[in-house]
Amino acid sequence: MTATTFTALFAVALALSLGLQLWLARRQITHVAAHRAAVPSAFAERVGLDAHQRAADYTIARVRFGVVETLLEAAVLLLLTFGGGVAALAALSARAFDGPILRDLALMVAVAVVSGLVSLPFSYYRTFGIEAEFGFNRTTRALWLADLARGVAVAAVLGLPLAALILWLMRTTGGWWWVLAWLAWTAFQFLVLALYPTVIAPLFNKFSPLPEGAARDAIEGLLARCGFASRGLYVMDGSRRSSHGNAFFTGFGRARRIVFFDTLLARLAPAEVEAVLAHELGHFKLRHVMKTMVWSTVASLGFMGLLALLAASPWFYRGLGVPAATDRPGIALVLFMLALPVFTFILGPLLSLYSRRHEFEADAFAVRHSSGAALAQALVKLYEDNASTLTPDPLYSAFHDSHPPAAARIARLEAPVAPSAPARVAA
Ligand SMILES: [Zn+2]
Repeated sequence: MTATTFTALFAVALALSLGLQLWLARRQITHVAAHRAAVPSAFAERVGLDAHQRAADYTIARVRFGVVETLLEAAVLLLLTFGGGVAALAALSARAFDGPILRDLALMVAVAVVSGLVSLPFSYYRTFGIEAEFGFNRTTRALWLADLARGVAVAAVLGLPLAALILWLMRTTGGWWWVLAWLAWTAFQFLVLALYPTVIAPLFNKFSPLPEGAARDAIEGLLARCGFASRGLYVMDGSRRSSHGNAFFTGFGRARRIVFFDTLLARLAPAEVEAVLAHELGHFKLRHVMKTMVWSTVASLGFMGLLALLAASPWFYRGLGVPAATDRPGIALVLFMLALPVFTFILGPLLSLYSRRHEFEADAFAVRHSSGAALAQALVKLYEDNASTLTPDPLYSAFHDSHPPAAARIARLEAPVAPSAPARVAA
């Protein structure tokens, strides 16, 4: 391949992915606006028109803002590549540092800082503009800044040693460096998964055991039946930052946890807490986190192999606006991380499909072990409180949503149990 061919390929992929994103955003806005006037019939009894219209306005505001961010990110990507940004930072880092690994690390940090600075105003406006306007935000500016500082510190403590290790492997271990780098990357992913619930998340939030009470009594039996220790169950002070509510399952082995946001817990009746817990236990029992990790591990081997191929090809550098520098793995890494999403955006629906399949499986698990009706009720409250639209555009949703649309989920939860389905365990 020549540099010119690769430039053309990249430009076409960027244009296609941008065009697709804008088209999907346009569809979502049109679709949500078209269904704004009336609550969908399946929810007519349960969701007020006010809440429905607030969800529509909130959805549209966020999609519009996302379009602005997407366009600016594309402009920055062009400036960094064809605009000579990466080339200039590479030259600068080579002048500033002697050691080959140090100067590549400096380049990676510089590009990360540029990208971070670009997204910062967006994050600020999302929190203090949109979230505040719709009454969700509870973060103060001081807390937002503290979160930012903690986020940067965590990224530096975890990311810098990993980047240095991969740069060192690329430089010293010969033609098969990418297999070693893949092993290092995989070990890192599992380390983060183990550290996230026990070390990283507690830096940002307080996690406490579920308090005694009706909700707790309702779930003890369910926990015992599913073989999940109740000390793995936590309440998170999500209300410190936002009134959005949620629940999630994370970690593995001894670090596994099910977490309820305090905001969600305050809204749900004990039977609904039990049903949401049953859904999260479904993720645990059906090993969804582990299955996703295995897939991403397999995919990352392919990506590492691709990186090895590109890093050794002068056309890859020149095609992205940087003088060929096969002796500087840091440049290859930076260009790879910048260019990859342009080509992988198209895989979005596959990832969403996989995730949505897990959500349906966890819902079915909740129907078997708790109550589909109670989970449906809990979900309606969750959609309403989070102002999630009940009428997303099907294509937009297929690309972007990790969870199935509300109507599809609730229809399945409330469908009569098929005769072949396993009997419910819960009374
Ligand atoms: Zn789920």
